[in-house]
Amino acid sequence: MTLFTTIRRGAALGAVVATVASAQLRVVTSTTDLYDIAKAVGGDKVVAAHIGEGYQDPHFIEAKPSFVLQLQRADVWAFVGLDLEIGWMPLLLDGARNPKITLGGSGYLDVSRAMPVIDIPRGAVDRSQGDVHPLGNPHYWLDPENGRRIARLFLSKYSELDPKNATAYAANEKAFEERLGAAEKAWQADLATIKGKPVVAWHTSWRYFAEYTGMNIVAYMEPKPVVPPSPSHLVTVIGAIRRTGAKVIVMEPFYDKKVADFVAKETGATVLILPSSVGGVKGVDDYIALMRSDIAQLAAAVK
Ligand SMILES: [Zn+2]
Repeated sequence: MTLFTTIRRGAALGAVVATVASAQLRVVTSTTDLYDIAKAVGGDKVVAAHIGEGYQDPHFIEAKPSFVLQLQRADVWAFVGLDLEIGWMPLLLDGARNPKITLGGSGYLDVSRAMPVIDIPRGAVDRSQGDVHPLGNPHYWLDPENGRRIARLFLSKYSELDPKNATAYAANEKAFEERLGAAEKAWQADLATIKGKPVVAWHTSWRYFAEYTGMNIVAYMEPKPVVPPSPSHLVTVIGAIRRTGAKVIVMEPFYDKKVADFVAKETGATVLILPSSVGGVKGVDDYIALMRSDIAQLAAAVK
């Protein structure tokens, strides 16, 4: 064997190794919550990335050019749906021109299609009135049962696109459900504390969480989803707090705390900043940690 053929064989081997590495599914998600579950199910068979950060309002993400590059190479684009990403997703998908992840493509994964959606408006919806949830409430990930549905959806999509690793995906998904099930057992006492307690929430992002925990949302700081509170609306909120004895105003880190502080001062309620997504505050680094932390903090606050 000449030196030349040895080098050529080495190069060929390198090419094979590169093919194996790039055989990992490239998954891009809109939110950190979908990302965490996508990773839990995909394990080392997928490379995952997310567009939004957990401390950002998912309704309003800036469509940066670097996201287009990620989407150009993606095998799967998983998004919350129900128009949550309507303000920024079309721009990114148009820029990426990747047929795999455009509507009808094998990797176009509208996660909401697998969810039981609540708050579906009856009759005509007028966007000019500021309603950003025209297809129903998109914040479904804050119920662990929907966390399981998300995991099963990734399992089914990965197994379809990469059948040779289907067994690994199934094992990862099962392990995720087991971890979640164990966590749920551990937070039952907190759920018992929360059940029936009146609270105020900033956005309707806490509706699924309320369905799960039994917290009783007596008023929203927003008069309509994403419409900032007006002085007259705040009067209504303050009235609801006085009437129901709600002790807590729950809000995400990205809303205007000064307004909540004002209501708290008027009523004696406390403002509780809770992340609604993975990475929303430091230390809440995965989906189960997010649920655990929100439930524990709320239980402590409404006790
Ligand atoms: Zn929303």
